[in-house]
Amino acid sequence: MIYLDHNATTPIASEVREAMLPYFTDEWGNPSSSYRFGSRLKTVIETAREQVAEMIGASSGEVLFTSCATESNNAAIRAALKSQPQKRHIITSSVEHSSVLACCRTLETEGVHVTYLPIDRDGLLNLADLEAELTNDTAIVSLMWANNETGVLFPVEEIARYCKAQRVLFHCDAVQAVGKIPIDVRKFPVDYLSLTGHKIHAAKGVGALFIRRKSPFSAFVEGGHQERGLRGGTENVPLIVGLGIAAELARKNLPDYDATTRQLRNVLENEILRSIPSAEVNGHKTHRLGNTTNITFRGIESEALLMLLDQEGICASSGSACLAYSDEPSHVVKAMKPDSTASREMIRFSIGVGNTMEEMKTAVRSLQKSVAALRE
Ligand code: PLP
Repeated sequence: MIYLDHNATTPIASEVREAMLPYFTDEWGNPSSSYRFGSRLKTVIETAREQVAEMIGASSGEVLFTSCATESNNAAIRAALKSQPQKRHIITSSVEHSSVLACCRTLETEGVHVTYLPIDRDGLLNLADLEAELTNDTAIVSLMWANNETGVLFPVEEIARYCKAQRVLFHCDAVQAVGKIPIDVRKFPVDYLSLTGHKIHAAKGVGALFIRRKSPFSAFVEGGHQERGLRGGTENVPLIVGLGIAAELARKNLPDYDATTRQLRNVLENEILRSIPSAEVNGHKTHRLGNTTNITFRGIESEALLMLLDQEGICASSGSACLAYSDEPSHVVKAMKPDSTASREMIRFSIGVGNTMEEMKTAVRSLQKSVAALRE
């Protein structure tokens, strides 16, 4: 198998697996218990919190563990609205992950007005559009850092500063940016920032939400006192421990990550463009992650090509894994190129540090063969 879908999920790192194991086996206590067999797990959770905090420049009291980034995104947006009941407007973009878009659509049915900012043909946001849409009624601006389908980066640091100057809360879905580009929440005034474990070699089912000290937040899963009473429910100790280790690895490996994946991605992309007719990249050439390429193969339905690639043992995708069965063309590429069929004919390849140059070459050969077969 050649796995080129790291924006969908990543393999669990061996260090993460090793760190989690004792908490699946011998250390099965409840952190809320008064005896040490349980209560000592509190320390373990706090260590993981510090590790996650350090990865993004936060203090540990600003990190809340959740079950996934979908939960983090929903919680941040709803908390901002709840804390400002007089404000009924949200600004987001048309290319956010479904966890933000679906939440916003539900909020629309609850009387909240949502502005979905457009993007240009390169997938970039025009800050003037944001400035034009912001009103006294805007409760929160929610924008992603790196797009999961194209890797295109939004200037979230600049956006955070603008929102702060306008006294509007800012939430950033940083799921695809974490571990791939430097993130330091001390350097820009983001109020909330979401991340998830399974994109950085931790397990599925654990995420986190950064909540800046003094940014409004209230309990959203009501129950026990866990997570400072903000999210009740017995903590998922093994997965939290794993997220902590994954965060530490991501922080240490960050300098190498970009160089390694960018080189592989560039070879894959350049070879595809050079050797396969009518292939074009979706997304800005430089304002994007080093590990992602999104390519339209003209005249070829994404799903047909993905099936042939699967037969060749190559894992890639036609957009977000969360929408894989929706049969809809990519909403991201559609927003970029509404006048073309590019959104139905695109494949996303996302590289990981475990990939090799040999795999890139094999993948290109399989693509050449599959595209030729479908164009016959
Ligand atoms: N946001 C982005 C940009 C994503 O790519 C994903 C996962 O695909 C999510 C949010 C949701 O993450 P999770 O699977 O942890 O809910």
